[in-house]
Amino acid sequence: MKIPINLKAGSVDKEEKKEVIIGIDLGTTNSLVAYADGEETIVIRDELGSNALVPSILHFGSEGVIVGDDAREKLISAPQRTIYSVKRLMGKSYADLESLKASVGYNVIDQDTEALVKVEIDGKYYTPVELSAEILKELKVRVEKHLKTTVSKAVITVPAYFNDAQRQATRDAGKLAGLEVLRIVNEPTAASLAYGIGLSKDEEQTIVVYDLGGGTFDISILQIQNGIFEVLATHGDTHLGGDDFDQLIIDYWLSQSGVTTQDLKTNKSLGQEYRTQAEQAKKAISTIGSYDTTIDDKELSIDADTFARLASDLIDKTLNACKLAMNDAKLTNDDIDQVVLVGGSTRMPIVKTAVSGYFGKSANDSLDPDEVVAIGAAIQADILAGNRKDLLLIDITPLSMGIETVGGLMDVIISRNSKVPTRAGRQYTTSVDGQKNLKIAVYQGERDLIEHNRKLGEFILTDIPPMPAGIPKIEIKFILDADGILTVKATELRSNVETQMEIRSAYGISEEDMARMLIDSLQNAESDMKAKALLESINEANNIIMATDRFIAQNKDALTVEQITKINALKEKLQKSTSGDNKDVIEAAMQAMNIYTEPLAHEALDRNIGKALKETKL
Ligand code: AMP
Repeated sequence: MKIPINLKAGSVDKEEKKEVIIGIDLGTTNSLVAYADGEETIVIRDELGSNALVPSILHFGSEGVIVGDDAREKLISAPQRTIYSVKRLMGKSYADLESLKASVGYNVIDQDTEALVKVEIDGKYYTPVELSAEILKELKVRVEKHLKTTVSKAVITVPAYFNDAQRQATRDAGKLAGLEVLRIVNEPTAASLAYGIGLSKDEEQTIVVYDLGGGTFDISILQIQNGIFEVLATHGDTHLGGDDFDQLIIDYWLSQSGVTTQDLKTNKSLGQEYRTQAEQAKKAISTIGSYDTTIDDKELSIDADTFARLASDLIDKTLNACKLAMNDAKLTNDDIDQVVLVGGSTRMPIVKTAVSGYFGKSANDSLDPDEVVAIGAAIQADILAGNRKDLLLIDITPLSMGIETVGGLMDVIISRNSKVPTRAGRQYTTSVDGQKNLKIAVYQGERDLIEHNRKLGEFILTDIPPMPAGIPKIEIKFILDADGILTVKATELRSNVETQMEIRSAYGISEEDMARMLIDSLQNAESDMKAKALLESINEANNIIMATDRFIAQNKDALTVEQITKINALKEKLQKSTSGDNKDVIEAAMQAMNIYTEPLAHEALDRNIGKALKETKL
């Protein structure tokens, strides 16, 4: 179902108008925006009309947030207030990110290893969704300046391996930036669309998308049939990209000049100079074959042969990932119709040669590798805008469907614009010890709080065997058939207790109501997101309070009176903070609790291991 809505008037447009839907490549290093108008695809460039890449970097300064090249300038001078690689944080819990935390200059917060990460800047706490939204806002401003009109709808790309939480986080970021995200598209799918692969209905192809960017490497194998893109396999390395090739040149120069890594660490601007020059050298080798420079009175040079020798291990690493992906997809080179190159680093001739050699066919690089994904996103957007009528249009769900979770939050299980039929599920648990029943309330709508959405029905999962809070594994499955009939199933997986209900989701709601709900969700995105963030912090705080009580009860013999008093004082402060409406106060109280209790928890763990070892009898 496609409903044209007029955002200004808040009404449904009866006549379908041509509208611009933008395509966004939200990248780890750089982001881009493009749009298409049925025939032509235009990539938005800077004021000089040359550079389309907006560095995915944010700087929080005295005048607010800046994004892009200006923010990049601040990486050295203000590392704690300059955020990069936000994409790596999307939908991630702290436990997922142990290694990243050590390598970035800003402060990634550890409150609860299971909770989603946050970044702290000057006592304020930001979610990756909020940070990504700033990048998207910048792209939105750029395209609006170019088109001289407001833009409210977008297609955003994500890596094929992004999970549900990461996709949802990307969607939320779009919403917060004032964009209705019509579709989240896999990056390799966008790349194939850019090359015109999969645009005709009866086409059948199997393609390899080799994507080597600034900091990440992905290889995807796609099968395209009847306009449907199926990801057969993905592989890659989330920490391998152009930066590593730059590092090879830096190391080579250090060995030439006698300067040490330590020197670069101590003298940050010298380090930056080496990095900048190394990247220039790499690019020069791609075009003219060699590079000479002087840094700090030291003459340095590198040629293509030396670089090829240095880079061979990294390239072999990417080819090995290709091999693993081909094995997973159970394909041989003969099955592959095309190989497509994506990402700035595929401009290195040694990469193209190696990839073409590996697959036994010339890799396609006729489009700008930095722009391919954004171009594909714009083409997908154009299809959704109805500007390419010859294309197969698959039926989609008009509104998101989900359930109520703690605090009255809407947890989306099937998102708006999903293809029908579809199924999706998620696991939950209980929040109270010995909980026997769980109410499952199903809602439809785009708002973050269920009170603003439309209730479709509710039922109770009964007879859950008594277990401590957090132990039951309750799987909620949504199955939506082609007629819009939703079946919701709840199963406690440890005991196999199951209940289900059927809901006729698409009925009883007029197009006007539907449009109203969409408009409301966009107009209230910011306040909704704030309310949601506050509720999430309160939920997290309550979990920490429960865990603290359990910790004291289990370790009261080993803890000193002072320690217990201090923990209780921190707990009281945390408890008090949850009755206010300042998320940052709650976050700070959680952090204070965590800083104090973490070493105590480690000691307790060591004690328990020691005890277990003593009790082990041979
Ligand atoms: P992306 O994340 O796709 O924008 O890729 C950016 C990466 O591509 C950076 O590491 C750049 O140094 C690299 N890159 C851009 N142009 C060239 C070039 N001509 N030769 C080699 N690497 C390049």
